[in-house]
Amino acid sequence: MQTKFLKSIVETLINKQAVPIIDLLVDKKNVNEFLIAKKLKLTINQTRNILYKLSDYGLVSFIRKKDKRKGWYIYFWTLNTYQSLKLLEENLKKELENLEAQLKNRNEKRYYLCNTCSIEINEESALLNDFVCPECEEVYHLSNNKDFINELEKNIIRTKKEIDLVSSERKIEENKLEKKKVVKIKNAERKAKAIRKKNRDIRVAVKKEIKKSKPTGDKKNQKIKKAKNIVKSRGKQKKKKK
Ligand SMILES: [Zn+2]
Repeated sequence: MQTKFLKSIVETLINKQAVPIIDLLVDKKNVNEFLIAKKLKLTINQTRNILYKLSDYGLVSFIRKKDKRKGWYIYFWTLNTYQSLKLLEENLKKELENLEAQLKNRNEKRYYLCNTCSIEINEESALLNDFVCPECEEVYHLSNNKDFINELEKNIIRTKKEIDLVSSERKIEENKLEKKKVVKIKNAERKAKAIRKKNRDIRVAVKKEIKKSKPTGDKKNQKIKKAKNIVKSRGKQKKKKK
């Protein structure tokens, strides 16, 4: 189902020749562009032109890797299914608007037809020509709007159905992306937590080290006593001198 939609968007944006690219990209990741060129029986430049166009619309993305032996870059392509469906949905909605405008026109306005020339014109133009065809001088007939209206109504129903289908596929892809995002955030949080714990452990270890290197309580007191004694004896010496 989805492949059909993706193909139709490629055909609209590029051309029929580019359509098989979908079969090569769908449900895959990082597909080598040389493989795509080989399978499509196109040159690497023709293939890249298609892929660049698709990437302009955000329908594909790439990563590149340097070929260590040859020294040039090789591009690996991935289809952005969500983006493709979104674009297709937008295009179908525009088409629907267009069909509905045409339907409104056919319901509200009269058109005239020259049966000989098979040319249809609107009422204003028919009036200007006094309802006679300037090419063959045949009298215009009122167009049968009913046929046009039936056709347009059929097209509108078909387009609406297609929009519903594409929209539901797009929502499925949207949910997939959302889930991936949640997993990414959770992983990042887990990493940050691990780093915080590591830093905390280091701080605790450093504090312990500092404590160890400090003189113990007894030694400290002894040192202080010593220092006080030195100060006292100095004071006595000073007094004696006076
Ligand atoms: Zn005519």
